Amino acid sequence: MENLKKQDAQVYNAIVKELNRQKDSIELIASENIVSQAVLEAQGSILTNKYAEGYPAKRYYGGCEFVDEIENIAIERLTKLFNVKYGNVQTHSGAQANFSVFYALLNPGDTVMGLDLAHGGHLTHGYNNSVSGKWFKGVNYHVNDEGFIDYDEMERLAKEHKPKLIVSGASAYSRIWDWQRISQIAKSAGAYHIADIAHYAGLIAAGIYPSPIEHADIVTSTNHKTLCGTRGGLIMTNSEELFKKINSAVFPGTQGGPLMHIIAAKAVSLGEALKPKFKEYQKQVLANAKKLAEVLEKNGLKIVTGGTDCHLFLVDLRPIGVKGNEAQKVLEKAGITLNKNGIPNDPEKPAITSGIRIGSPTVTNRGMKEPQMLQIAQAIVRVLKNRNGENIIKEVRSQMLNLCEQFPIYENLKY
Ligand SMILES: *Cc1c(COP(=O)(O)O)cnc(C)c1O
Repeated sequence: MENLKKQDAQVYNAIVKELNRQKDSIELIASENIVSQAVLEAQGSILTNKYAEGYPAKRYYGGCEFVDEIENIAIERLTKLFNVKYGNVQTHSGAQANFSVFYALLNPGDTVMGLDLAHGGHLTHGYNNSVSGKWFKGVNYHVNDEGFIDYDEMERLAKEHKPKLIVSGASAYSRIWDWQRISQIAKSAGAYHIADIAHYAGLIAAGIYPSPIEHADIVTSTNHKTLCGTRGGLIMTNSEELFKKINSAVFPGTQGGPLMHIIAAKAVSLGEALKPKFKEYQKQVLANAKKLAEVLEKNGLKIVTGGTDCHLFLVDLRPIGVKGNEAQKVLEKAGITLNKNGIPNDPEKPAITSGIRIGSPTVTNRGMKEPQMLQIAQAIVRVLKNRNGENIIKEVRSQMLNLCEQFPIYENLKY
């Protein structure tokens, strides 16, 4: 970044500080990951200069020969990775992917059904402060008292409200979704089933979490969570008819020119995900999440649903009398980054919460395994039980820094 350093010290310095923060903290935010330097290079390339409205071989501008090549590579890799017929790689984010699908299939005022935000769902699944719940009528299904999806309720609500679309998938649900059952519920209600695998995509690609591709009408995803690529959205389907609708809903429906540098970076990370090493990585992601949950539970914390089948889980902090926001703050001081998170039927407000969400993709990406998970989980418990112990917090901070130095990231990055 020599040019940036010379020209714009303000931005350059902030980037360097953020790089050091990433290097020196234990990152447990379940939706984050660490991309390869190859991905960073593609993303930082001259492709950002190119306008390419339209799709490969059907563009509105000239000079698209090489960006066509890039978008075709990204699509080929996506469809191969998820074993699906059609893919769209142009959406700028997961939210854009979901909105494009809503735009493709619905009219304003139509009813959509999604998991309650407070039970692990996502804003874009019909929540009232997002366009998905303002312009469409959102109906929520929930998890039961044990924290598992209540499919009987979903079936009842589908019969009652006759939604046009049911969204499955979540941001804070650690168990396996019964994609087939949801498709049956959707079918009998005359609804489309959209599976949003933003969180589970990497595990699904590696074959260690069930894929919804055979069951759902459309699958949406992010590219940057467990899938470990550049930020952005992905849409897939096996239906030619729906694929045509999706493409026109993305462009010209809701977006202008595609971000070709991002699409190139998507192609690179999807290429990485097709390699055998990726499968090993995802297996370790799962093993590490299970290990973290197990150690926390042994130390008196409560894991929602009692465990996890993926890269994340929710911790109910009430047994040790800590609020989610307090936990987030004190753990950050100790060098552990994670987010407060509501637990099902949380008595606290969203700004406070009774829980935290923990995810393993980033620490696993650094090469950490079960012994390090034991260390991290023990550190979390120690900090939460000694929230006012400045010395203990300092001691944990230096242990975590030490751990980060043993498992470094971006060693060859010259900023
Ligand atoms: C993260 C997430 C999204 C949104 O992705 P952005 O890229 O942040 O817009 C959509 N759906 C689910 C389930 C998510 O977890």
